[in-house]
Amino acid sequence: MSEDSRQERKAEIAESLREVRERVDAACRAAGRQPEEVELLAVTKTFPAGDAALLADLGLTELAENREQEARGKVAEFAELRPEAAVRWHMIGQLQRNKARSVVRWADVVESVDSVRLAEALRRAAANALDAGERSEPLDVLIQVGLDDAAGRGGCPPGDVSALAAEITRHSDLRLRGVMAVAPLGGDPDVAFATLSGIARRLQEDYPEAVEMSAGMSGDLESAVAHGSTRVRVGTALLGGRRLISP
Ligand SMILES: *Cc1c(COP(=O)(O)O)cnc(C)c1O
Repeated sequence: MSEDSRQERKAEIAESLREVRERVDAACRAAGRQPEEVELLAVTKTFPAGDAALLADLGLTELAENREQEARGKVAEFAELRPEAAVRWHMIGQLQRNKARSVVRWADVVESVDSVRLAEALRRAAANALDAGERSEPLDVLIQVGLDDAAGRGGCPPGDVSALAAEITRHSDLRLRGVMAVAPLGGDPDVAFATLSGIARRLQEDYPEAVEMSAGMSGDLESAVAHGSTRVRVGTALLGGRRLISP
């Protein structure tokens, strides 16, 4: 990319970032919350490592990907572009157990843990990576809660959250930090996020470090903030529309 087009792209992202921050601030004001209570997680899926570098230049420190295979190369490329950047990478997409070994090499946080079997695979992978010096910290995880009955979208059924939490916290290689959810397609996000908020509160009573509620995307972040989200995951509103890609 030429220097001119990079500057142009940076200005474009800076303007989107200003607008997103304004939306989060307004949602916080409306809910009587402080803007510092809501972290902005930039979702870089389908966009190049160069865009992730520009986001880091603009001060963002939390970046997310949803496909392991796409992410591992991009995170490595990002590290070459911005070796000094203190960025934490989040995995937010459905994850197969056979990707656990790879994901623990680049992710600081896995937000999409939705089964005991996946938790166990991640725990083993994190322990091995710690032993091998491929990581220096335990893996932070969130339980992804399924808020609709549609099969295939991932998510732990609300009734199984406490058993999954018990499994995750049995070992020190994983750190349970809270819950994540995606509002059901076509459903009312207020209903979904109110449900999630109750689940998050109950979990935190048993696990005081599970403070995060990762909820809200470009289209519904106001509703999520109103219901107590501590982290909004924003892609489209920051980087623009994604072209559809086949899975
Ligand atoms: C893509 C994605 C987002 C961001 O969605 P936008 O509508 O582009 O802001 C958030 N969360 C998850 C799990 C995603 O896959």
